[in-house]
Amino acid sequence: MPTHATASTAPADVLGRPLRDLRISLTDRCNFRCTYCMPRHLFGSAHEFLPRREILSFEEIERLTRLFAQLGVRKLRLTGGEPLLRRDIETLIARLAAIPGIEDIALTTNGALLDRDRARALADAGVTRITVSLDAIDDATFRRINDVGFPVDRVLAAIDNARAAGLTPVKVNAVVQRGLNDDQIVPLAGHFRGSGCIPRFIEYMDVGTSNGWRFEDVVPAREIVERIGERWPLLPLPANYPGETANRWRYADGAGEIGVIASVTQPFCGGCTRARLSAEGKLFTCLFGGHGHDLRQLLRDGADDDAVAETLAGIWGRRRDRYSEERTAESAARRGKAEMSYIGG
Ligand code: SAM
Ligand code: SF4
Ligand code: SF4
Repeated sequence: MPTHATASTAPADVLGRPLRDLRISLTDRCNFRCTYCMPRHLFGSAHEFLPRREILSFEEIERLTRLFAQLGVRKLRLTGGEPLLRRDIETLIARLAAIPGIEDIALTTNGALLDRDRARALADAGVTRITVSLDAIDDATFRRINDVGFPVDRVLAAIDNARAAGLTPVKVNAVVQRGLNDDQIVPLAGHFRGSGCIPRFIEYMDVGTSNGWRFEDVVPAREIVERIGERWPLLPLPANYPGETANRWRYADGAGEIGVIASVTQPFCGGCTRARLSAEGKLFTCLFGGHGHDLRQLLRDGADDDAVAETLAGIWGRRRDRYSEERTAESAARRGKAEMSYIGG
């Protein structure tokens, strides 16, 4: 039975999972057109992004986050779309960092706008960790994937800027697709070996319906670990905390660690404590959810804090999502799943 929660208790969902993490999408826009996320034929000039009035304001995000924190959220991840496209997010971050209960604010970015000053400003505002996405170390491959001709060197500079700002260890996300960039697994690992950065290889997921995902495009995490381990022997590391998404491995020679996120072949729904807030204020209790709960309407209709908190607790208390554990070829092809750039990765 779901816990009947009041505004001051942390509800567990139907499967006994507490609410601990909130991923906040700050915008549905992006300056990249990664072929697996915002393919150009669907996100071209005719695509209508959310108009400004439909995006949650900083005040609305702060208020919701405060209520989420009262219900048990401890960690935030700011994402998108490209979060650094949203103007003045440092102001928002400072407000979020001041919310009682919030212990950790991470940011996921493609790095294009992460210059030295920006990295410093984000750290000063309260960002504790940064993940930079980089799907290839070969420049031509990376430009092909981001589909705006963005060079690898500038992402590497962004990673350096994050390190210089003290946001260490920087994690580097690479989504692996067979035949597209699986030849980049070992070179990416090699590039970051000994650097203090932690590359994390992510199994390509069937998020949304626009990327034409197929099971055969997924390179299983086991294979990723084998390929790297053949070159530089790896030893397993324990999770940093319960419910961590990445399986951690360290180089036997002490040159650092890598992570693999096996969302497809070894799903981790049992420990999933994550809620997602889309840029327009819809609450999703699963990355693969088709239906978001409209919190913006609730706020703009004048609901008081108790009413909003009760709604949040009720939604979480009824949660039974475990999409990745139930994934089938048919469900992967099902229409109506929200896109990653919209829901927030
Ligand atoms: N624009 C930012 C970035 O790329 O880091 C933040 C948003 S992006 C949606 C967040 C992460 O989701 C990125 O690391 C991206 O590679 C990953 N991602 C997007 N689509 C994916 C998919 N189908 N499977 C696995 N990861 C995906
Ligand atoms: Fe943009 Fe990130 Fe999606 Fe690439 S993965 S299109 S950078 S939101
Ligand atoms: Fe969580 Fe849904 Fe992913 Fe499972 S499929 S880990 S429930 S977001």
